[in-house]
Amino acid sequence: RAKELGRNNYQFYTRNMNERIHEKLDLQSALRQAIANDEFTLLYQPQVDLKSERIFGVEALLRWEHPEKGTIMPGDFIPIAEETGLIVAIDEWVLRAACAQNKAWQDAGMPMLTMSVNVSGKQFLQSDWSTRVSNVLRETGLAACYLELEVSEAAIMQDIGAAIATMRALQAEGIRLAIDDFGAGYSSLTALAHYPVVRLKLDQAFVQALPGSADDSAIAREVIRLGQQFDLSVIAEGVENAAQSQFLRENDCHEMQGYHYSRPMPAAALEVLLREPFRWSAT
Ligand code: C2E
Ligand code: MG
Ligand code: MG
Ligand code: MG
Repeated sequence: RAKELGRNNYQFYTRNMNERIHEKLDLQSALRQAIANDEFTLLYQPQVDLKSERIFGVEALLRWEHPEKGTIMPGDFIPIAEETGLIVAIDEWVLRAACAQNKAWQDAGMPMLTMSVNVSGKQFLQSDWSTRVSNVLRETGLAACYLELEVSEAAIMQDIGAAIATMRALQAEGIRLAIDDFGAGYSSLTALAHYPVVRLKLDQAFVQALPGSADDSAIAREVIRLGQQFDLSVIAEGVENAAQSQFLRENDCHEMQGYHYSRPMPAAALEVLLREPFRWSAT
């Protein structure tokens, strides 16, 4: 059939591919300029504890405000940033901006929050990362215990030895660590015992189909049980409705993050939310 379609079709595909390559190169050079041009911004998504009915932390989520293309989501540029190594500079920008924001909130008398920052595996496995984090904390004046670094289970698995070494160095500084997107079962029980982390983030992929899916229900329960056994907090990500929240609570998970509670929002909107005497009831 390919033969039948002939030359025109071949050219069509070639042109398409060239366009894609050009688009990618454009994106790469635009990404290089983005930090200098101040095109990155952070949104903050509340993390809610249904026992205290309070926001205890926020996760910083990166957005790229491209002058022509508009808002670009991290899924559309983080992979390219990782390929080109630009992620190292980007993650450091995020870390500094997030720590400075948390310190500014504290100085303004807002409730004390944990600031969660995502770290790419590429960044996390660099041997000088913990030193650079300490420098940012010193420069911004944020106490280490108000910073939580999220590294995905998949990133840890790329090099468990190096990941544990980095985690230990960060832990020694008093920085909190969380395993993001947890639940695919990459980590053995033995490995989990060696991770100096304080929190597991149940992957939203396993939250989505709760409580209907028997498989995902079993996985969610298992992650919650693992957390209890290793004395780790467990937060569910991507909680979108009351049925999911109810299932999680019934299974002893009380920390929630997701659209059902709040979308990621700009700093100013979060400040309004924090000033309200609002209590985050279960539903
Ligand atoms: P993540 O760390 O697992 O973050 C959670 C993602 O789920 C965020 O997507 C968030 O907006 C989204 N989300 C939150 N609640 C809900 C919900 O109820 N339903 C659904 N469907 N989604 C929800 P976002 O902001 O697009 O970020 C995607 C991923 O990009 C993040 O996944 C993280 O891995 C990465 N990322 C974001 N910011 C950074 C950053 O500063 N540095 C690095 N290295 N990675 C980042
Ligand atoms: Mg995360
Ligand atoms: Mg996640
Ligand atoms: Mg993710």
